[in-house]
Amino acid sequence: MRRLPQSFAEYRWAPSTEEIARTFELDPLQVVRFDGNVPAQPAPFVRPGAIAGALADVNVYAHGGFPELVDGIARYAGVGPENVVLGAGADDLILLCARTFAGPGDVVAIADEPTYPLYRIGSQLAGAEVGVDDPVVTFCCRPNNPTGELAELPSVRPLVVDEAYYEYSGETAVGLVGDGVVVIRTFSKSFALAGARVGYALADADTAAELNRRQAPQPISGLSAALALLGLSDPPDVRWQVDERERCARGLRALGLEPLPSATNFLFVPLDDPESIAGQLLRAGLVVRVYPDGIRLSVRDREDDDELLAALARVLDRPAPVPEATGRRIRHLRATAETRMRIRLGLDGASRVVVRTGAGIYDHLLEQLAFHAGFDLVLDGVGDLETGEHHTAEDAALALGEALDRALGDRRGIARYGDAVVPMDDALARAAVDLGGRPAAELRLERDPGLAEHMLRSLSQAGRLAINVDAGGRDDHHVAEAAFKAVGRALRAAVRVEGSGVPSTKGVV
Ligand code: PMP
Repeated sequence: MRRLPQSFAEYRWAPSTEEIARTFELDPLQVVRFDGNVPAQPAPFVRPGAIAGALADVNVYAHGGFPELVDGIARYAGVGPENVVLGAGADDLILLCARTFAGPGDVVAIADEPTYPLYRIGSQLAGAEVGVDDPVVTFCCRPNNPTGELAELPSVRPLVVDEAYYEYSGETAVGLVGDGVVVIRTFSKSFALAGARVGYALADADTAAELNRRQAPQPISGLSAALALLGLSDPPDVRWQVDERERCARGLRALGLEPLPSATNFLFVPLDDPESIAGQLLRAGLVVRVYPDGIRLSVRDREDDDELLAALARVLDRPAPVPEATGRRIRHLRATAETRMRIRLGLDGASRVVVRTGAGIYDHLLEQLAFHAGFDLVLDGVGDLETGEHHTAEDAALALGEALDRALGDRRGIARYGDAVVPMDDALARAAVDLGGRPAAELRLERDPGLAEHMLRSLSQAGRLAINVDAGGRDDHHVAEAAFKAVGRALRAAVRVEGSGVPSTKGVV
């Protein structure tokens, strides 16, 4: 084995969620990771069905590579396919650039410190040294991790610019690929595909060809390529994450902290005693990244971020920041002997919906309901599926009902009533809901895949709403799906805020 320099420090991962849960006697569902700089949930385009084609071909190599993905990336980045190099995440391309540009006896420069550790790791693995004298290549992280800063682009060449957080900053050096600049990007961050491991480099055609010659024959999998391609067909809209980042920054400032300005999906907070503060947060299951002079925290979503702000207030012994107008969003946990359901629900959402309990079609039905209601919903759960889907599907519906009830608060000023008619191929469903506060379920589903009616009943009970559904058709799935969509559409109308009045015939509901 070739020896590595004394100063070599390999990349280190933070402890796993399960390890943290074990150490601090928490439920793994209580552990919230603010240390990965990745979105809190997969994008809506991520579905097992989306990779069914790739799975069917998993026994063969993708002869000819992934030209469709390369073309898609080229279009997305505004370059030609001859300028694109694929890799297993940005990390793979950092290592590829290091070994392509540098070798034993060479010096590699790194623009900012502190910065992402892989430029140093890649350079040392290539046998080069990190320094400033006559470098063969310079690495620059823009915007920078961990500070979030968007600094001036260095004028040195050749220059490798890591734009892992490009979508958040909107700034790119792609226009300089003809001028000795290589840009590295990833699907791990804004596209929410970190586990799929897809990244790419953009360079002038000669450099790209040279990088491709030195790359592994097939660095990404067909499954990952399929996911990345889907992502490109629906590129992320990061505006809400950027807004949420600024909201978090205001919350941190209200605690007397001074987060650095950020062009990414994370914030760096300078602190005198980062180890101790991070350690106390960890005990509560909140994982942040620790640096010698501060902590770095990923922006997740309002519910998770508020939990972190509240925990920080406790740790710092300062008054909790006054929650800003919350837009009827809540976190909810429902645990029974058989199941555990974790929910994040926003009533005034944008139909960002993921339901993952393993209960097959019933997950899909709840997703349809929430999607058509215009909610943001994440429902993660585990249930005793060994005995069938009954407990899991029922508890998912109950948990959603409870969350809905809580998110509606005192129900003042909402439209209260809503109705909808939704066709689904052969099926037709009519639904009406009343959010007056009394549970009732009048459900006439001509066919049922098994638990659809039962779930609507559970939702009505736990959510304290009346649901009236009439649905018919020839296919049981279609009937159920039309019914859930119609209830969703009806809910969309009923939860709407109409004013500060009290929409009840008997005083306050
Ligand atoms: N570059 C930077 C600046 C990063 O922060 C990260 C991820 N933490 C990466 C590269 C690696 O990303 P990937 O998942 O694409 O390998």
